[in-house]
Amino acid sequence: MRSVLLLLFFPLIGLSQQLEYVDFLQIDARLDFNNELQKVEGSYNVKFQVLKSIDSIYLDAKSMRITNVEERKLRVVADENKIWIYGPFDQGKTYSTEFRYEAFPAQTLYFTEDQIWTQGQGKYTSHWLPSIDDMNDKIEFDLTVVARGDVRVIANGTLTTTTPIEDKVAWHFDMERPMSSYLAAVVVGDFAMKRDTSNSGIPLELYYKPEDSLKAEPTYRFTNEIFDFLEEEIGIDYPWQNYKQVPVRDFLYAGMENTTLTIFSEAFMVDSIGYKDRNYVNVNAHELAHQWFGNLITETEGTHHWLHEGFATFYALLAEKELFGDDYYYWKLYNTAEQLKALSDEGKGQSLLDPKASSLTFYEKGAWALHVLRELVGPEAFRTAVKNYLDKYRFQNVTTQNFLDEVDAVTEEDLQTWEEDWLKQSAFKAEQAFQSLSKSNFINRYFEIQLLRSLPIEQKREEILARPELFSNDYLGQELVGQLDEEPIEETRVVYLMALEAGNLYVRQEVALSLINIPADLRVIYETLLEDSSYITQEAAFYNLWTAFPSHRTRYLDKMKGIEGFQDKNIRQLWLALAITTPNYMVSAKDILKQELLSYTAPNFSFEIRQRALEYAYLLGILEKGSLLNLVNGCVHHNWRFRNFCRSLLDEIMLNPTYKMHIESLESNSEKEQAFLKTKISE
Ligand SMILES: [Zn+2]
Repeated sequence: MRSVLLLLFFPLIGLSQQLEYVDFLQIDARLDFNNELQKVEGSYNVKFQVLKSIDSIYLDAKSMRITNVEERKLRVVADENKIWIYGPFDQGKTYSTEFRYEAFPAQTLYFTEDQIWTQGQGKYTSHWLPSIDDMNDKIEFDLTVVARGDVRVIANGTLTTTTPIEDKVAWHFDMERPMSSYLAAVVVGDFAMKRDTSNSGIPLELYYKPEDSLKAEPTYRFTNEIFDFLEEEIGIDYPWQNYKQVPVRDFLYAGMENTTLTIFSEAFMVDSIGYKDRNYVNVNAHELAHQWFGNLITETEGTHHWLHEGFATFYALLAEKELFGDDYYYWKLYNTAEQLKALSDEGKGQSLLDPKASSLTFYEKGAWALHVLRELVGPEAFRTAVKNYLDKYRFQNVTTQNFLDEVDAVTEEDLQTWEEDWLKQSAFKAEQAFQSLSKSNFINRYFEIQLLRSLPIEQKREEILARPELFSNDYLGQELVGQLDEEPIEETRVVYLMALEAGNLYVRQEVALSLINIPADLRVIYETLLEDSSYITQEAAFYNLWTAFPSHRTRYLDKMKGIEGFQDKNIRQLWLALAITTPNYMVSAKDILKQELLSYTAPNFSFEIRQRALEYAYLLGILEKGSLLNLVNGCVHHNWRFRNFCRSLLDEIMLNPTYKMHIESLESNSEKEQAFLKTKISE
């Protein structure tokens, strides 16, 4: 997270050194976004205190142009990566200067079809807002955003005023406390909002698109409980003025904890059925925990990144334990232990203090380290240490040692071994982990069931059939169903029947996902899976039934006709694909069905919808000029997951000479797309 470019023209101070000379106190910026040109115009005021006399200071600012300098007594000059402010500046004095700038952000600020949003971490806020890319200077950011009259603006802090200016509105936000620049954020779009208040009186604002109003409750379920739990458990009041959560289109990650303003992927918006399959609860708790771990106290550098991610993951897990119980808590720990052990066994284990470690290490090994530490010193001492640590370093930067010192101060335990095993060591301490897990009765029962894996079905069937209650437990039942997978159906039929009849949603889901060749005498009971409150189950069961029983296809299609499914329309798109493929079904409407499926490949839909539509259209062989252009558009999309998907699909398609010809004759209105096409054609 550091740029090391040195500029030879100026009396130089390196990046880390500037901190010794100047402390940026406040940035007051008024921003006007131009959607058509994807441009930012800013009026900017910065206030700073000089710690040691110096001739010039800088702000990080990528490819920005100064369009005017208000205050003539300070000279302000922009180069490729920085905006320089010239003094001389005297030690101990506070200065401020104003200027206007414009920028065409290459990243960090994204203009999508109907929204604008930012992602600072890992991307540099200095692409849209002159700021400090180093996390060690904490600044108070007060942003004003000018936007069209029909949209809403959400930024860090408290909305103090909205001022109409002709057909636009200026939204002014005020922050009371300083933060690192990567946490500055803005969202612009059409949103509705539900207001709430925490037990401690903090205003909570839950945003959603107006058409998603029915999804707001299931998506944000337990928000208040999580908030109140974390404040109580952490023992330090929520450090900011308010807390807002906003789902956006085509987001880069699951969520991002900008101060007072978590931005998360719209794919988490679920109705009450989708809630059971994939809900926002964990991300909700994780991003909120960062408001303390990461935002209130911030790592000095990447070596200490686990102080953000490990803590956020661990506290989210504690919140989920509060909501869903101990079995859930240990089950999640067990699963991450398996993943970490597998990685470690391959010799790919990583130290928590490795700044280049993977997410699995920072998040899950970090959470494991804290789980083990809490067991070692006891929950009381652990809580006191965390509280003291947050209190002592609030609004400052921290290292791992700062945390360890606070733990040391409240315990008699020797932390040396823990530090060695969990922070420094690259291997995962699986034995210690499993010892800890064995304190859970539930995990012990699970291990017993898991031991049956090695037995062939004849040797365990009677035992399983004698304990139907096992299929009422999500995890034990799923494990047992998983064990039937490789066995001949004549041997397992009766067990599947019992699993389905037990009525557990997740056990039945496992049947839908694993029993693909459905025997005829299980058809009727298998069909009941189409009624389950799970879009994962419905999708799998629908496809498996359609495949296994051609004579019932019309009935299945009629039944699943009006269902949309998740935000990516998983059921609707599968329905379209199967309806198109079934020759005698809706014969006169085939073209309309094809058009609907192809329409989902267009940029006015989220990338999750587009990706599925492109996959189906490719499999059905119905990609035409319009959808191929949409595919090319995806090849230059800002979301790397979607971009990579589109690029590999395009490569695959181009192996087919007919498609290749089609693609070579495409012409896009977008320069970026046209340039990309050119590289493909010249290959
Ligand atoms: Zn995180």
